[in-house]
Amino acid sequence: MRTLIDHVTVLTMDPEGHVYQDGYAVIEDQKILTAGNGKRPEQIDRYIDGQGGILMPGMINVHSHIPMIPFRSMGDDCPDRLRRFLFPLELEAMTPELVYRSSRYAICELLLAGVTSVLDMYYFEDQVARACDEMGIRGWVGETVINMETCDSREPYGGLALCEALIQKWKGHPRVHPIVAPHATNTNSTEMLKAASDLARKYEVPYTLHVSEMDYEMEYFQKEYGQTPIEFLYDLGVLGPEMIAAHCIHATDHDIELFAETDTRVAHCIGANTKGGKGICPVLDMRKAKVTVGIGTDGPSSGNTLDLFTQFKLAASFQKTRYHNRGVFPAHEIVELGTMGGAAVLGAQKELGSIEAGKQADLVLIETRSVNMFPIYNPYSAVVYSANASNVDSVWIAGKQLVKEHRLLFADLKEEKRKLEAVMPAFRERAVRYADIL
Ligand SMILES: [Zn+2]
Repeated sequence: MRTLIDHVTVLTMDPEGHVYQDGYAVIEDQKILTAGNGKRPEQIDRYIDGQGGILMPGMINVHSHIPMIPFRSMGDDCPDRLRRFLFPLELEAMTPELVYRSSRYAICELLLAGVTSVLDMYYFEDQVARACDEMGIRGWVGETVINMETCDSREPYGGLALCEALIQKWKGHPRVHPIVAPHATNTNSTEMLKAASDLARKYEVPYTLHVSEMDYEMEYFQKEYGQTPIEFLYDLGVLGPEMIAAHCIHATDHDIELFAETDTRVAHCIGANTKGGKGICPVLDMRKAKVTVGIGTDGPSSGNTLDLFTQFKLAASFQKTRYHNRGVFPAHEIVELGTMGGAAVLGAQKELGSIEAGKQADLVLIETRSVNMFPIYNPYSAVVYSANASNVDSVWIAGKQLVKEHRLLFADLKEEKRKLEAVMPAFRERAVRYADIL
C-alpha cells in the first residue's frame, strides 16, 4: 500500500536540513518510501492533496505524566503544590480505571496536536501502556519508584517490582516501550537509584527521573554531600546513554560536562519550569557541549497542555531571554529539538524523528489555511511562532492515519470525555477539601 501526500512543504529534519517546497512524501506500509519535490512516483494506491500545508515528522514529547488529566487547572498558582495537594490526592484518589480513562483522553489530545511519541511516568503504568497500545500512539512508559506509599503500592519503593513486571509484559511491543522511572533524586534512596539503574541496564531500557529541578533538592544535596544532584548521580555510576534526565534547570557547567562525558540525555520542560517559577535550563550550553536534548510538556497539571507547539514558543523565547540574544535557537533548531532531538533522547533516532527513506512513517500535516498561518516566509518559523495545535490537519503513525481533517479516526473525543467524567466523581469529592488553595 503506497500513499502519496502531495502539494506540501516537507520539513525533513534530515541531517542536511532538506526542505522541499511544493514537495511530496510517499508512505509505503509502515515506512517512508521517499520524499522530494521532483517527479511524483506513478505507482500509487492512495493520493492525498496536502493543499499547501507543512509536512513534518511526528513530534516527540519526552517527559509527561499523561494520567494527570484530572489535575489540570487545579491550584495552578499554589506554591509547593506537589507536597501540599498533588501527592496526597494521588495517594487517595488515583485508581487503575482513572489512570486508564485519563490516558485515553490525553492520547486524544496528543494525537490531535501531532505528538506521535510520548514518554510517560506515573502510577498504574500498565494502564497507560494499554491505552497507548489501543490507540496507536508510541509510548515509552515507566512505573514511578518513590520512597513513600503510593496509590499502587502500600510499600515504599513498590514501584520497582511493578517496573520489572511492566518490562516483562511489554518489552518487544512495536510501539509500547517499558522504561524504569525513579521519581527524583531527592525522593529515592541511594540504593534505590542504583537498583533502578541496574534494572534498566539489565533489560536494556531507558531510565528517567526528575533531576536538578527543585530548590530544596539542590540545597539538600549541597548540605548532605557537598555536590549537585548530577555530580552525585555521576559518582553513583548511573549516568549514561540510557538515562533521560528531566528538567535539569539548575545544571552547572560541570554537570553539563558530566552529561557530555556519559552521553546522558535531557528532557527540557520549559512550560512547567517557568510556570512554577523555577528557572530556565541552560539548553544552549548543553547543545554546545553536544548533550542530546528533547522537549517535554511535563504533566497536564504542570504545563496544562500536552502539545509541543506551546513548548516551542516558550523554549525559543526563554532561551533567547536567558542568553540575552534573539539570534540563539532559530526556529529550525527548536523544531529539531521536538523531532530528531526527542528521537535521540529515546534512543530511537534510527527509526524516528525525520522524514527519510526507510524510517517509520510518523508524520504530521499542518494546514496553512487558517487565519493565524498567513503569510509564511519561513516554514520553521510558521511552525514555532505562528502555529498551534488546532492547525494539525492529519497525523500518521507507522503509516496508519490516526487524524484526518482535525478529527480522530479511531476514537470519539466526546465519548472519551464522557467515560472519563464517569470515573471522576470520587476524585472530585476529595479535591474539594483543598478548595481554599485551588
Ligand atoms: Zn515530571
